[in-house]
Amino acid sequence: MAQDAQDHAQDHAHDHDMRDHGKHDHGKHDHDHSHCRHARERADLADTGLARAEELCAARRQRLTPIRRAVLEALYRTHAPLGAYELIAVLGEGGGKTHAPITIYRALDFLMEQGFVHRLASRNAFVACPHGHAPDELVAFLICEGCGGVDERHSPALTRAVSGMIAAEAFKPRQQVLEIVGLCGHCREVG
Ligand SMILES: [Zn+2]
Ligand SMILES: [Zn+2]
Repeated sequence: MAQDAQDHAQDHAHDHDMRDHGKHDHGKHDHDHSHCRHARERADLADTGLARAEELCAARRQRLTPIRRAVLEALYRTHAPLGAYELIAVLGEGGGKTHAPITIYRALDFLMEQGFVHRLASRNAFVACPHGHAPDELVAFLICEGCGGVDERHSPALTRAVSGMIAAEAFKPRQQVLEIVGLCGHCREVG
């Protein structure tokens, strides 16, 4: 089965169709970003994701302060995982304020607590997520070492299998993130 077909099969049982393919126009991809499907879908997700974050914060009596919103927006706009220092650089662009790392980390902590952002432990970088996962939902990231693209996937079968294993240990998970590192289908084709 082709990689793309596999991805679609994995997605099938979930309405989750995030194609978070970062840096698609860089590296060995000869690829015009403005025509990239991933970039367009990501841009669409940004508005929905930000609006959803605003709504959820209001409902939970939490404040999406300007810095929290700016960090979340930056993570949506880049559609690639960003570290704290990259976020400082992005937010400082065009004469913007240069924030202290602690300010960025506090904003990220809040965004992760609220379920708006995932952390990729293997790169110490962050991605925006508009899906509002349940705490028992397993999130899998396919991280491409060729183009830096990250695809987020869900599989009910995988969630069930891991939940069963965790329940058998009477373990209470706070977050469940599976990181799979390798080469995406596109990069494998380009070779
Ligand atoms: Zn997610
Ligand atoms: Zn790739």
